[in-house]
Amino acid sequence: AQVPRESEIKAAMQEAYDQFKSNTGGANANYIPYLDHVNKNLYGIVVATVDGKVYELGDTKYEFGIESCSKIFVLALAMQERGLKQIEDSIGVDATGMPFNSVIAIELEPQRTVNPLVNAGAMATNSFVQAPNKQAKWEKIDAWFTRFAGRKLPVIEELYKSESETNQHNQGIALLLQSYGRMYDDPLMTCDLYTRQCSYGVSARDLAIMGATFANGGKQPVTKDQIIDTKYVPRILAIMATSGLYDGSGDWLYRVGLPAKSGVGGGIVTVVPGKMAICVFAPPLDKAGNSVKAQLAIQHMVKKMGLNLFDSV
Ligand code: GLU
Repeated sequence: AQVPRESEIKAAMQEAYDQFKSNTGGANANYIPYLDHVNKNLYGIVVATVDGKVYELGDTKYEFGIESCSKIFVLALAMQERGLKQIEDSIGVDATGMPFNSVIAIELEPQRTVNPLVNAGAMATNSFVQAPNKQAKWEKIDAWFTRFAGRKLPVIEELYKSESETNQHNQGIALLLQSYGRMYDDPLMTCDLYTRQCSYGVSARDLAIMGATFANGGKQPVTKDQIIDTKYVPRILAIMATSGLYDGSGDWLYRVGLPAKSGVGGGIVTVVPGKMAICVFAPPLDKAGNSVKAQLAIQHMVKKMGLNLFDSV
């Protein structure tokens, strides 16, 4: 795979930046009070290539809530520790076509927990992480995220507090999963750890580099740390392709043709296998919970650089 030239990357970034900068579509996530108050004009674009180069434009240093983008990294941890079969059999890898926090999705399949990128499956995935107690489990997750980012990520304590005070729905899902025998550690502890993992502060730069690790076969392109076995990467990317943008995933794949993961903090990270990751951050979201500007900017850049995986010419 050929990584696009620097001039091509920079031109695509600038064009996408300029074109959508004044777009006013969407609204901040308002079900988590902290997110509602984030400056809605923040806008940053980062490309991180597999050869370790990082290109930034706009608000790329601002630390926003990682939210659901954390799910792909905890999935990587659980997969690395437990192998594919456990994830396939106990969590499931199929798309739901339903909202990220759907309770109905849990009822659809008696044996599994839907997939690791909706809240139910993400909490079950978190519960798979092996550690003797809560503190040790958090330390393990924290060390794992440190390797992906190449630096210790802060937890935005104010966001964690805000989300903890309002996460009754997720607590309900965690307890429901326990009642079905599909939660693999204490449910409320797991829900709390999940809430904490969602409260990491990442910059668009961090998230692009973290995503580029998947583009680079599981090897962090800046630190050169081989974090997960290369064989797991296509599986993670496949789940991202079908389920990375909540119930907007099908539309996304149709338009952009690349695996991605969004978070209600306003970040979207897109992986171009063998080449790069693109992360765009802009808080206002569409109805499904995906950043409006990030979707437009990434779509534009992918088209401009010809990165759609289904383009064979
Ligand atoms: N912590 C958020 C929740 O569970 C994450 C949602 C998201 O980014 O989709 O509600």
